[in-house]
Amino acid sequence: MELIKEIKTMQKISQKEALGNKTIGFVPTMGYLHEGHLQLVEKAVEDNDTTVVSIFVNPTQFGPEEDYEEYPRDLKRDLDLLRERKVDYVFYPAVEDVYPEGYATYVQVEKGTDVLCGRSRPNHFKGVTTVVSKLFNMVRPHRAYFGQKDGQQLLIIRRMVDDLNMDIEVVACPTVREEGGLAMSSRNKYLSPEEREAALVINQTLQKAREWIEKGERDGWEVKKKMEREIKAEPLATLDYASVVSRENLQELGEIKGPIMIAIAAFIGSTRLIDNVWLEVN
Ligand code: AMP
Repeated sequence: MELIKEIKTMQKISQKEALGNKTIGFVPTMGYLHEGHLQLVEKAVEDNDTTVVSIFVNPTQFGPEEDYEEYPRDLKRDLDLLRERKVDYVFYPAVEDVYPEGYATYVQVEKGTDVLCGRSRPNHFKGVTTVVSKLFNMVRPHRAYFGQKDGQQLLIIRRMVDDLNMDIEVVACPTVREEGGLAMSSRNKYLSPEEREAALVINQTLQKAREWIEKGERDGWEVKKKMEREIKAEPLATLDYASVVSRENLQELGEIKGPIMIAIAAFIGSTRLIDNVWLEVN
């Protein structure tokens, strides 16, 4: 496994692999890896000749009051985990190379980015689509792997790849959970034992909503109201949103129908956590 820090070196490697007719699988991450990330990595290794994992904590997707500086980092541990999984290249560019002085170009998806997480994190998805586009230009992958855990992000990236004719297959991987159902996240590290227990309310509420819908509930506002009530009943939780949206356009649904996503974001103490469930409703 090779650690690549220079953007030009990464591009040369990708060119060489492509000339040799090798397929490149790419897993973009912000590091501090857990089983959720490693599942994407294992799938990429399985599907492709060459696997590249990037580790880059992207400043443009964090708001001014958010946790960019404190975001957990542990490169040595990440490299050990990736070496065990037989990753070929770890791409670890420097912030000042990705965003040099004078940097002025952004990629923005104009639908579905101002709702759910986009409402409380106004420039978040602009930062995500910009860095993912840039990383795609650096790594030139055939396939890129994303987790369903960040459901809105995944749908927005699909939109961008389609709209900009990027010749890349976006592969979605299911959410990996801890025992008890809490979705794995690098931010779970911030939780105290009591908060970790309280955080279970997020997935429990999603599972309840799934059951209500599976039993025939089709009123999106009713499901939303009942989910909000469940989250508000947990003293350590502060609700950001609980919504039933269409996976086609990320808009909230009055009538639940088609491919949907039930999504929740809540602060547990001061840690913001998100989770979601996907359903096909006739
Ligand atoms: P991050 O490092 O948080 O930017 O995540 C990198 C990738 O890992 C994204 O595609 C995430 O959706 C995915 N990911 C993070 N947590 C999980 C999880 N618990 N299950 C599945 N995928 C995940």
